[in-house]
Amino acid sequence: MITLPAYDRDPYLKALETRILRVGQDRDRPFALLEETILYPEGGGQPADFGFLGVVPVVDVQKREGELRHYLAAPAEVGPTRVVLDWERRFDHMQQHTGQHLLTALAQDRFGWSTTAFHLGESRCDIELGTEALDPERMEELENAVAEAIRENRRVSSRWLTAQDYAALKVRSRGLPEGHVGDIRLVEIEGLDLNTCGGTHLRSTAEVEVIKLLGTEPIRGGTRLFFVAGQRARKRMSAHEQRNAALRVLLGAPDEELVAGVEAKLAQLQASERRLRRLEEQLVEALVGAWAADSEPVQDHHLEGQDGAFLGRVARELVAVAPAKVAFLTGEHESQATFVLAAGSEAGIDLATLGATIAALLDGRGGGRAPIFQGKVGSLKGRALASAAMRQSC
Ligand SMILES: [Zn+2]
Repeated sequence: MITLPAYDRDPYLKALETRILRVGQDRDRPFALLEETILYPEGGGQPADFGFLGVVPVVDVQKREGELRHYLAAPAEVGPTRVVLDWERRFDHMQQHTGQHLLTALAQDRFGWSTTAFHLGESRCDIELGTEALDPERMEELENAVAEAIRENRRVSSRWLTAQDYAALKVRSRGLPEGHVGDIRLVEIEGLDLNTCGGTHLRSTAEVEVIKLLGTEPIRGGTRLFFVAGQRARKRMSAHEQRNAALRVLLGAPDEELVAGVEAKLAQLQASERRLRRLEEQLVEALVGAWAADSEPVQDHHLEGQDGAFLGRVARELVAVAPAKVAFLTGEHESQATFVLAAGSEAGIDLATLGATIAALLDGRGGGRAPIFQGKVGSLKGRALASAAMRQSC
């Protein structure tokens, strides 16, 4: 006779009076062993349950060294306790997991696609199918077949069998773990599926509520099929709706036109960027032309709205075409002021020394290599002083 964990006998049990038999530490994590438990340990693709032992949160449950360890947020003491299940989390897992059984059974029966793996993720789940890419029509067919099985409200049950009885049954199985000995747990969806599984399941397919297939991804030797079941599907739908509502306001368009609206905006943005680049080139050309032609050897300008990259480009081009000139440019773009000092090859100034003086007067810092010294400005209040310092050394 096997003593079953309480979660195995009744996966709907949400609280249980029991005892902490032993406590321990696994690395830095305190854990407790219970006389009996309703908390499912991670396994078979299903994540561990969360819950409470008394007031202490249970943050993980794992099978380790033949024990069922409840990992705790704080140490607990041996003695009577009440274990409470995080039911919302568990019910979600039961919906995804039972949904997976349905999906696996129907993918096999209707299409001959066998399931080789199952992952229950935080936001979506997937099964790996031993088939090449699924086209949208087949996916819709599969989704419809699953919806029908949900509507049929088929009973889901589990039972234990001896290895002997198991051998005599025709069971769809992902295979027993290597070296498995002893009795075997079977999970049955009435009239649809018989499978070996140790997880927690719903009572009926109706409790799955809905399964929505999300898409596929090729993997080596098969296809990964993403899906969500139950409450997750509804939550996902709510998130989609909220997102669409925000997009409808932003784009001033109905749902059907959102994609076209974004495409049009992106095309506009690209056209604007091309135009901006042309204008920038024309502006550089115009400034360099005007300043090069000016008789004043020191070109000292503030360009509001321009960043360091633009200042550097103008200054570099100016001293290249007018090597006797010195340029001192400042600009401010998105609350960051920058400065550039540039000296042509015939200007005859000590760029590094003058650059450091100017950086200090502007409460900033900078550096560079001839013909450019540039940096960030802490405050433009010192600009007039910096101007004067520069004129003195030119
Ligand atoms: Zn299962």
